[in-house]
Amino acid sequence: MRRTNTIQLVPGAQEEELMHRARVSVALHNTINYRRRQSYFTGKVDYSTTYEYNGFKTVLGSATTQQIIRKCDEEWKSYWALLKLWKTGGLEDKTGIPGYWDKKNPTTLMRNDSYRFEDNILKLPKKLEVKWKGNKVWTGKQGRMEIFYKNDSKKWYAFIPMEVEATETTGRKTAYIDLGIKNIFTCWIEMASNAEIFSGRPILADWRYSTDKLSKLQSELGKRSSKRLRRLYTKRQRRFRHAINTIVARFTRKCVSADVSKVVIGDVKGIRNSGSKGRTTNSLVHNFWSFGYVYDRLQTTLENNGIDLLRVNEAYTSKTCCLCGVIHKNGRKHRGLYVCPDHGVSMNADVNGVANIKQNNNCEPPGSSNWAMASPLRVL
Ligand SMILES: [Zn+2]
Repeated sequence: MRRTNTIQLVPGAQEEELMHRARVSVALHNTINYRRRQSYFTGKVDYSTTYEYNGFKTVLGSATTQQIIRKCDEEWKSYWALLKLWKTGGLEDKTGIPGYWDKKNPTTLMRNDSYRFEDNILKLPKKLEVKWKGNKVWTGKQGRMEIFYKNDSKKWYAFIPMEVEATETTGRKTAYIDLGIKNIFTCWIEMASNAEIFSGRPILADWRYSTDKLSKLQSELGKRSSKRLRRLYTKRQRRFRHAINTIVARFTRKCVSADVSKVVIGDVKGIRNSGSKGRTTNSLVHNFWSFGYVYDRLQTTLENNGIDLLRVNEAYTSKTCCLCGVIHKNGRKHRGLYVCPDHGVSMNADVNGVANIKQNNNCEPPGSSNWAMASPLRVL
């Protein structure tokens, strides 16, 4: 699995040389991209690069020159892939063509075999040696390193992707979860007598607060875009992500302590299409669930602990009664309850959904989840 180490570079007297290389790297990228962008507007992208090679190679070395050209290729490849996704309805907003790298925050790349660490020294090509600090959390095979300068803080950082060996777990139980908005995770772990709910209410409340602030500022400013607005959008997103990370970490700890080795999750695609849920919730859904942020975080965090995540189709799992295996007309009642007229019981609707995910996945007959009728525990 792939993980990233982030470290800080402290170049000291070497800063001028490092800055020079980063600036030349940006110039190389932007030169190549200029021709691609220009030719794009005339109808056919000119991907040739060979003539840039020689001029920049003397400063950057051939490995870095090659990595920057490759990175530009990747940006374009990703652009075409996203465009295709947008055309087929899989993406909300159309993406723009690859932009220029920022001269104020210059960056450079190092091929996996062209750098190495010796104690607190990072050895770069052409005998450039730079001190570094921080924590290399992950060990494994190093990939292409990205070095960048933050103009705001005047500091240097490096991202080092690592190919890490998967963790082994000793757990043997399976957990089943349903992703939602009001209840972020509704889960049931094998042998448990109750389902558990990890509430999303605080996240919703925070989102609502930030969204109100945004629309107030928007009407004050009388326009839809400005630096202040963008900052607020970023802040709203950061807060949301932080809250999700916390809840994912809590859920993962729960799984580890409950001896879980596998988590089965209903496919999240359904959430976006399940009709109107009010403006705040809809904006939340469209902004984040569509990009699978929660799902990605969950997968990474579980994987770090050696737990597998299995995605299964959740079609009809919220409408079907887990006791009878049929869709009762008006079965899904308001206020989060699912009522089964045949058994005369009401269950938490999300818990009913999890029970269906579990029964479907294991080909069990309806009614084989007693815990679905017990009140779920709430985890905050
Ligand atoms: Zn029923």
